[in-house]
Amino acid sequence: MRTIWDMAAPVHNGVVTCEFGVAGRHGPHPGRDYRAAHGTPVRATLAGVVVRVEGDEVVVESNAIWHVYGHLTEFAVRRGDTVETGDRLGLAVGPNLHYEERTNPYRPGDHRSPQFDLHPNARLPS
Ligand SMILES: [Zn+2]
Repeated sequence: MRTIWDMAAPVHNGVVTCEFGVAGRHGPHPGRDYRAAHGTPVRATLAGVVVRVEGDEVVVESNAIWHVYGHLTEFAVRRGDTVETGDRLGLAVGPNLHYEERTNPYRPGDHRSPQFDLHPNARLPS
């Protein structure tokens, strides 16, 4: 049986393509990117409640942390839905999924190094 502490990588056999904090055009990368071909199912890293479905983004709140999933299409959830770890949120637009964790008050700058997406199946860049 799953518990709220179960975690999952946001994509199956996730391969990280850009790490948190890497310098970019818009400053340090606020999240972690995973390779995700167009149409790849994107899964919840942790159980929670969907608090935003907007643009190409889904946000799940869990333990007072916002889990932001970017570059999604064909959403499988709506605002207010409860999701379990591993539930499908939508499909990746491709070629990457952006995953971010925000702390209260959840402004774009209120991010931390993601913790709920790390899973033995996820391979970090070498
Ligand atoms: Zn990103």
